[in-house]
Amino acid sequence: MSPAAPGPGSLADLTGHELAERFASGAATAVQATEAALERIAATDERLHAFLIVTGDQALEAAGEVDAARERGERLGPLAGVPLALKDVLVTKGVRTTAGSRILEEFVPPYDATVVRRLREAGVVILGKTNMDEFAMGSSTENSGFGPTRNPWDTDRVPGGSSGGSAAAVAAGQAPLGIGTDTGGSIRQPAALCGIVGVKPTYGLVSRYGLIAFASSLDQVGPFARDVRDAATLLETIAGHDPMDSTSIPDVPVDCTSRLTDGVDGLRVGVVKELFLEGTEPGVLARVREGLERLERLGARLEECSLPSFEYALSAYYLIAPAECSSNLARYDGVRWGLRAKDSADVVDMMQRTRQAGFGAEVKRRVMLGTYALSAGYYDAYYGQAQKVRTLVRRELDDAYQRFDLLVGPTAPTVAFPIGEKADDPLAMYLNDVFTIPVNLAGNAAVSVPAGLSDGLPVGLQLIAPALGEATMLRAAWAFEQDLGLSTRPVSHEEVRS
Ligand code: GLN
Repeated sequence: MSPAAPGPGSLADLTGHELAERFASGAATAVQATEAALERIAATDERLHAFLIVTGDQALEAAGEVDAARERGERLGPLAGVPLALKDVLVTKGVRTTAGSRILEEFVPPYDATVVRRLREAGVVILGKTNMDEFAMGSSTENSGFGPTRNPWDTDRVPGGSSGGSAAAVAAGQAPLGIGTDTGGSIRQPAALCGIVGVKPTYGLVSRYGLIAFASSLDQVGPFARDVRDAATLLETIAGHDPMDSTSIPDVPVDCTSRLTDGVDGLRVGVVKELFLEGTEPGVLARVREGLERLERLGARLEECSLPSFEYALSAYYLIAPAECSSNLARYDGVRWGLRAKDSADVVDMMQRTRQAGFGAEVKRRVMLGTYALSAGYYDAYYGQAQKVRTLVRRELDDAYQRFDLLVGPTAPTVAFPIGEKADDPLAMYLNDVFTIPVNLAGNAAVSVPAGLSDGLPVGLQLIAPALGEATMLRAAWAFEQDLGLSTRPVSHEEVRS
């Protein structure tokens, strides 16, 4: 343990709402909470590598402003002064934003993403930008152009991905709150592997303006936290209509907290047969089955349901997502942003050499797959077919919601796996998202909530809701969490071996 590590009772161990109580009573200030978070980062991040950049001075300044506003008696939001770890895929004015890619290594955006603006307006203190798989393509954070992040539960293992940096930061107490993005599972799967709460909101609930695009019909921004209450409050803070995003849902009242504690009595929950696949680790299945019994004991009515199209969701996703990625990533041509290869013979040579040098292997694989799937002659067989599967998944889910308020299953088939284990096997890596992807195809909401440990490593339970079903979904997650009673304290930094 590093001697600089803050001892027991550090403000870095508290959740956002616990900090807020201390701010309100005068027991602590936002500057103190920010200092505690920065100390925790200093003590642990050499080993974890959750952050790509820490903006300590800016964070302390923002915290100081919140404290001053509080002293003046201004009305402040519930997260004012609470520190947060931001995935490096949302642009920040004047602060380097890389999306985990060497091609954007020097990119300093001239504006803030809408989510970032909302966070700042709410007084949330942004500590820095977190590591991620390059352009959010991956499930382990090993595809980062800047080296992997480690899981605080066992630093020889991955934190999941692609939002692994934010998830590891929250799990380790570097920040009580985090922001990730979820295109095929990149919030829920790292939340499960790091033992925290992660929410994939309904498509269109949170603005994508200023989010560096991977697959635009699937990407959503969402919260990480160590408990459901914080996740719900953070979701309320970032959600809402944005005229700058054409897919943003207009006029939605966003209330995830007022009925959070109402319980699950009478809720109809469908246990999705296809989410209990052969090959899922027995320890994961055991925790999830216990979770089902718990929900039942709490008054939910569980019944098995079958959604046969889920079997094809992964294959459809790995055509649709690469197709959209090949089109979105065409803009990185060395002309407008970031890297530009030197000493090129002509403009085509320059573009080719820029992309060759700037993109990692997984990004290149996706661009090639996507370009192929969209090319004349293959479009109907691949992309068109995948879109039909997407429609089937959506319809089957819509049918299921006629009978069920929520659906349930595991978040991921495995616990955190060793760094390097799947790095050279893209198909094995893709399979880690088999339970999360159908939700993205349908644009529905889902949450991963901690369900206990298997061999000392966290397991996540996934609750799935229809579009804009967040309030009911988080109510069930809260009841589950309270009854299970796991600690919301960070994984001890003593376990972050250096
Ligand atoms: N792991 C999936 C992929 O590689 C999902 C990534 C994500 O949700 N951003 O595409």
